[in-house]
Amino acid sequence: MIDFELPPALKMVKDFAHGVARDTFRPIARKYDEEEHTTAEEIAFMGPIMAQRSSERRKKPKKDADEPKKPRAETEDRIGAIMSTVVGSEEFSWGDAGLLLAIPGNGLGNAAIAAVATPEQEERFAGKFAAMAITEPGSGSDSGSISTTAVLDGDEWVINGEKIFVTDGKQCDIVVVWATVDKSAGKAGIKSFVVEKDRPGVTVTKLEHKMGIRASDTASIVFEDVRIPKDNILGSPEVKTKTEGFKGVMKTFDNTRPIVGSMALGIARAALEFTKEKLEEEGFQFRYGLNKCRLGAIEREVLVMESELEAMRLLIWRAAWMGDNGRANAMEASMSKAKAGRMGSEITRRCVALLGPMGYSREWLVEKWARDCKINDIYEGTQQIQQLVVARNLLGYSRAQLK
Ligand SMILES: Cc1cc2nc3c(=O)[nH]c(=O)nc-3n(C[C@H](O)[C@H](O)[C@H](O)COP(=O)(O)OP(=O)(O)OC[C@H]3O[C@@H](n4cnc5c(N)ncnc54)[C@H](O)[C@@H]3O)c2cc1C
Repeated sequence: MIDFELPPALKMVKDFAHGVARDTFRPIARKYDEEEHTTAEEIAFMGPIMAQRSSERRKKPKKDADEPKKPRAETEDRIGAIMSTVVGSEEFSWGDAGLLLAIPGNGLGNAAIAAVATPEQEERFAGKFAAMAITEPGSGSDSGSISTTAVLDGDEWVINGEKIFVTDGKQCDIVVVWATVDKSAGKAGIKSFVVEKDRPGVTVTKLEHKMGIRASDTASIVFEDVRIPKDNILGSPEVKTKTEGFKGVMKTFDNTRPIVGSMALGIARAALEFTKEKLEEEGFQFRYGLNKCRLGAIEREVLVMESELEAMRLLIWRAAWMGDNGRANAMEASMSKAKAGRMGSEITRRCVALLGPMGYSREWLVEKWARDCKINDIYEGTQQIQQLVVARNLLGYSRAQLK
């Protein structure tokens, strides 16, 4: 039988995250939306908590990153890091998605490290706040075309290049940088490297002024002859010049895309709950169980949006569960992000409209949620890129056949 009740361990994650979202994030959400680039000291206490969580995860035995995970038996049902992160992220984002991204130690680079680092690397980079740097001035959706280079010189890699739109790029301690070790090998030459921010040659050159998630910084970073230890290459130190190299770095997306989806879900849920509350105050009723044609227009619309939230959540949980249980989940991860990214934007925009002029006013957070939600349909692969991944997987086409 399918059981949709959260087990006690996940219920605890949900309740804790919801409490922080309600009591800490919500009250300061507008402040840091208006004071972009100011560090939110009120959430500093979350850093040690995140470090404690990842330390508990590290204590569990883990396989070498490049060793293919064996699918678990059908009967096995493991709740791992991805599932607990998506459950927590939905709640935190219900409070404020920008502040969630600004929690020390909670960068997208941390999820990348959790996905592909060796146990030794996980230990070495424990407690560090990690950003993820893929995008470059000449490379966005086509992440296989990056031109940042990593050249082995004795016992060190030398990194050169420029990364843009790096979430937490200013605040982070370390950056997971995608770079090519062999441009002629194309995608196969791409690997990810951990670069400590305080290494000579690392410069934050720009901070973006953004439409949404303004509590989190977004930076450009230049890497000029930056020398890092040989074993800062993530995963196996062996550079394979077959496609496994790129598949290895792409594996991080299978973890991070459901997480981004859960952020869209949390924001959209916040907007819809608030909108419903305000409509109820105005005398609207929401009757469940009636035939659709007997419902009022707004009533029907709100109930349909609620069912969309459920659909988003189920797709996210499926992708996360598959990831935690060693199943190949690239398609499901993209499905979850495609659905959540698109519907999150639609629901939040619709909530602005349903509330009339007050929905557009800065007095309420609904207009902010509509601005915040949009990013989830852009980063970690846009809507169109997710649809490409899903189509390729469903139709059995290669990257070359469908691009
Ligand atoms: C606030 C913010 C934070 C970000 N954080 C990070 C981060 O932490 N790390 C990082 O590396 N990057 C980050 N990014 C960058 C983000 O991942 C890219 O913007 C995104 O991948 C799209 O790349 P692009 O902007 O170059 O768009 P392009 O690739 O130029 O795409 C432009 C448009 O064309 C469409 N398109 C492109 N290719 C195809 C195709 N084959 N078929 C159909 N349509 C296509 C896209 O969907 C998009 O609509 C961030 C961006 C923003 C705005």
